[in-house]
Amino acid sequence: MKCKRRYDIVVVGAGPVGSYTAYLLAQKSFKVGIVEKKDGVGDGVLCTGVIGTKAFDRFDLPGESVVTKIDSAVFFSPSGQKLLYEPNEVFACVVDRDVFDQRLLRKAVESGVDAFFRHRVSDIEYNGSYCSVKTRGSVYHARAVVVATGVDYCLHDRLGFGRPDGFLYGSQVDLSVPSLPSRVEVHIGQDFAPGSFGWIVPFRNGSSRIGVIVQKEGKVWLRNLIAKRVGKIPPVQACDIRVKPIACGPVKRSSKDRVLVVGEAAGQVKTTTGGGIYYGLLCAEIAADCIEKNLRSGCRLDDYEVAWRSALAAELDIGRNLRSLALKLSDQDIERLFTFAKQNRFWVELLIPRIDFDYHSDVIFYCMKSFSHLLQLNH
Ligand SMILES: Cc1cc2nc3c(=O)[nH]c(=O)nc-3n(C[C@H](O)[C@H](O)[C@H](O)COP(=O)(O)OP(=O)(O)OC[C@H]3O[C@@H](n4cnc5c(N)ncnc54)[C@H](O)[C@@H]3O)c2cc1C
Repeated sequence: MKCKRRYDIVVVGAGPVGSYTAYLLAQKSFKVGIVEKKDGVGDGVLCTGVIGTKAFDRFDLPGESVVTKIDSAVFFSPSGQKLLYEPNEVFACVVDRDVFDQRLLRKAVESGVDAFFRHRVSDIEYNGSYCSVKTRGSVYHARAVVVATGVDYCLHDRLGFGRPDGFLYGSQVDLSVPSLPSRVEVHIGQDFAPGSFGWIVPFRNGSSRIGVIVQKEGKVWLRNLIAKRVGKIPPVQACDIRVKPIACGPVKRSSKDRVLVVGEAAGQVKTTTGGGIYYGLLCAEIAADCIEKNLRSGCRLDDYEVAWRSALAAELDIGRNLRSLALKLSDQDIERLFTFAKQNRFWVELLIPRIDFDYHSDVIFYCMKSFSHLLQLNH
């Protein structure tokens, strides 16, 4: 006999996006349940945890999860030329994802959300008036369901949401490597991140998070990056490196019957950097708003699909175009672009105001216009 529970909304997945959606809905006085397949949240999440400071201004996020504040970034070309971005203010934070995820869920629970662990949702059915969310031992009845399952797309296949257009792989290891406590390093080069980039991000107690985001063989490329850019440290074993897929592009559909898909589950991830927290939280707000309007005044739940795509689809497309272009660039091409930027103060002065931590299309357009001309001239 299955245990039955009734809610206005059931959220599937207690990652940051699921917990934040549940929190927003509880704040709107709905009865909300959140169902998570793991024992708890935030234990050993694989993520660098870099979030722009604007996210902390815009969303109600746990400040106590911040480990480091970032006020500069240095970009390294394949040969080691450097470009320094130093805006004289903190523009990003590095959070401890374990603490971040746990605190977000706690906020949701303190707002009245019921949380259920070790419950893997295996199916969601809509019978014309309510949804049944099914786990092995329970059924949850809800007027609307939010799927926030991250890169677990098993439910998508059953429900017809499709999968993201593509995937990248994020590989990362924590090492005791001295780095400036408030500066991130971005390393570009075909030898360790073909068509993409690697990073060294300060974490706590003198350790750094070192990673690459690539199309395949992340462990191999990350070891190359460490060998070339970190230097003399004890050899890093492949088993110390962790790898996880990152959605690169949206799912085909993110709203059907009374079910909405939010966060990485919907492919709401920056296609440039693989960062998923800001876009996921933004879409959590959009989803909570649409659900409220639907349940209180009968507005269409499908408006969610239109609203989030209007906000983000162009950014996601442009990032993917940049990735295709970057795969075609040789290390020599990249050197030329670095040299050009270093030698053209006026070009940089026009670039700087276009930089935004969360929206990259403006910078990409500016660079593409300048560089397509530059690269044509040189080929
Ligand atoms: C190496 C690496 C570095 C990254 N660095 C950054 C970064 O610096 N900044 C940034 O913004 N992003 C970064 N990301 C991406 C970021 O981690 C994700 O985009 C983010 O975690 C997505 O949040 P989410 O809540 O959508 O999904 P998740 O955090 O994946 O949470 C999904 C939850 O759903 C649960 N779940 C799944 N299926 C079911 C089911 N059927 N039933 C019940 N529960 C289920 C899971 O157990 C999980 O708890 C990085 C990713 C990687 C791999």
